[in-house]
Amino acid sequence: MNRGLVSDIVPFSIHDGPGIRTSVYFKGCPLNCRWCHNPESRTGHVHAMVRRDLCRHCGACAVCPMHARGSHGELDVMKCRGCGLCVRLCPAKAVRLCGQVMTPQEVLARVLPDRPFFRERGGVTLSGGEPMAQAEFALALAKCFHEQGIHVALETCGYAPRAAYAAMLPFTDLFLYDWKVSDPAAHRAWTGADPGLIRENLRFLSLQGARIVLRCPMIPGVNDHEEHLRCIGKLTYELAGICRVDLLPYHALGNDKRMQMGLAREDFPVPEANEVERWQAVLSGLSRVPVCR
Ligand code: SF4
Ligand code: SF4
Repeated sequence: MNRGLVSDIVPFSIHDGPGIRTSVYFKGCPLNCRWCHNPESRTGHVHAMVRRDLCRHCGACAVCPMHARGSHGELDVMKCRGCGLCVRLCPAKAVRLCGQVMTPQEVLARVLPDRPFFRERGGVTLSGGEPMAQAEFALALAKCFHEQGIHVALETCGYAPRAAYAAMLPFTDLFLYDWKVSDPAAHRAWTGADPGLIRENLRFLSLQGARIVLRCPMIPGVNDHEEHLRCIGKLTYELAGICRVDLLPYHALGNDKRMQMGLAREDFPVPEANEVERWQAVLSGLSRVPVCR
């Protein structure tokens, strides 16, 4: 049976597409963006997360059969296999598991009670992590929601085989497509992935008539320069499918979750409001479509 790994299902989302939506967060991503604000969705396995502020350093979790825990509550997330033993043993309730294997029908059952809140504009957003890293599961879910008449948005980094996107097209109303770093060498350095496939898939979806919102994280020191904004503006003229650009200014909320996973912080400067306004103004002058944030 088709099953997928989900990190969370969040109702009443207003930042993941039009209207009020329920976001289904897939677990696992082929990219390794250092500014990722959902680091728990990057790992493709079930694992523990530890609130170090609650930990009493009792050492009970050190019995971990995978040797993923230290005697002071430390966690090596890549060794953890999500057995749940330390969750059960922790007297401080400092540990929880992240990740759940679900069938499309189980996800549908979780989402359907939210349907009255979708009204005419809202719906479901498949997000992550990267939904297309579990392409069969994403397709099965999109079909389920489509059959129910629920609007489907797919948030994607674009790094999956073209055939997988072709299969999604009939069941996806809106693509929320990431455009992170325009320079290919810098893209490889900051995300660990070659951008060629991402660019080709974007072009393919546009040629197929998909509706696309380009989602552009703005990370000071990485892509906050005019050359990147010029490239985004050029894309909006080249690709008719792009109907809007969303600028997503960096925020540091991912660091709290990184620390719960036992990972080191990844800090970038948080941009001031006037800097974000300036990016929006510059890009608006270069773009065919509205630029929002
Ligand atoms: S859930 Fe806890 S005990 Fe189980 S493998 Fe992970 S860290 Fe170890
Ligand atoms: S069992 Fe809980 S309180 Fe004890 S060291 Fe582990 S995380 Fe901390």
